[in-house]
Amino acid sequence: MNILVTGGMGYIGSHTCIQLIEAGHTPIIFDNLYNSNAKVLDRIQQVTGTAPQFVKGDIRDKDALVKAMTEHKVDSVIHFAGLKAVGESVEKPLEYYDNNVNGTLVLVDAMRASDVHSLVFSSSATVYGDPASVPITEDFPTSATNPYGRSKLMVEECLTDFQKANPDWSITLLRYFNPVGSHQSGLLGEDPNGIPNNLMPFISQVAVGRREALSVFGNDYNTPDGTGVRDYIHVLDLADGHLSALDKVGSTPGLHVYNLGTGNGSSVLDMVKAFEQASGKSVPYTIVERRAGDIAECWADPKKATKELEWTATRTLQDMTEDTWRWQSQNPNGYSDA
Ligand code: NAD
Ligand code: UDP
Repeated sequence: MNILVTGGMGYIGSHTCIQLIEAGHTPIIFDNLYNSNAKVLDRIQQVTGTAPQFVKGDIRDKDALVKAMTEHKVDSVIHFAGLKAVGESVEKPLEYYDNNVNGTLVLVDAMRASDVHSLVFSSSATVYGDPASVPITEDFPTSATNPYGRSKLMVEECLTDFQKANPDWSITLLRYFNPVGSHQSGLLGEDPNGIPNNLMPFISQVAVGRREALSVFGNDYNTPDGTGVRDYIHVLDLADGHLSALDKVGSTPGLHVYNLGTGNGSSVLDMVKAFEQASGKSVPYTIVERRAGDIAECWADPKKATKELEWTATRTLQDMTEDTWRWQSQNPNGYSDA
């Protein structure tokens, strides 16, 4: 299939393009490079032996999207493009609603104009807000505590309404838990700008000597060791979830909603220990105040995806930390080293 991958130059999108190519599909990357590096294209080619098609463009540009979908005879769209930093979304709500919500509406309008009726959307476990219990199933109530989360929720609601009005469309909402890890080649990985917001890239930058110590945000949660518990999932397992979704429901009219997680929770200190083991480096840390808006624990019940998509996460915490370390140690400054 020819698949338009918006945001395909980014962390999750680039790994998904590799899995698409290796499964025999043709990804057409559509990205404005706002949060990614053109060198990703060479890296995808080095891993797969195929240079991916790339269109530099903004998802708020309907004409550019229609042109890309028509010229490349696109069958389906995987939509990763958007802004993703929670803290920044509080400072710049307009930019978040414009890129994430308006951008998605323009994309769907362009798909309609191009007669492409199959969409897979990157949603997030953040739509569950502070869940009443764990593990989380897809029918849990949804809510938002910041503009980023609200933008994901708004898009989910817009797409749900749109699908109801257009019952021949297949729209899949994939709710990611915490993607970490890198391609096992060490050629692709997560390369955040500035100080990482997320735990794993912060830990790996401490291990490689770019930062002095990790701040652990609170050790007084009601969890086994007091630190926050999350469901970390290898980015390649997440990528594979998109292929399964396209394969199993991408041509089936309807609104399809799945959690993509492992079903296992790990604490901040579990992650530090696992990373120290994988890297052989020490990761010094200090306990600081809780981070505003954080929740104690969050992990998925992934059974629906296992049953209906025949997908399950197979990579271990050791794979996640070893692969992250390979990427970080081979590219201490990310793609700017390339
Ligand atoms: P990323 O920032 O690495 O990738 C996003 C890509 O989209 C970048 O290459 C960026 O240049 C591009 N982009 C942004 N705005 C654009 C626009 N207006 N037009 C065209 N391209 C644009 O992020 P990621 O971690 O790969 O996340 C991908 C998607 O998954 C996002 O929608 C994100 O919200 C969602 N998600 C991510 C996580 C996570 O922890 N990484 C968790 C849950 C959901
Ligand atoms: N965390 C931390 N220090 C950091 C970054 C994150 O202690 O520098 C903790 C955070 O409080 C949470 C877990 O690590 O318990 C995962 O945080 P992340 O931001 O990666 O994901 P999210 O909170 O969005 O699930």
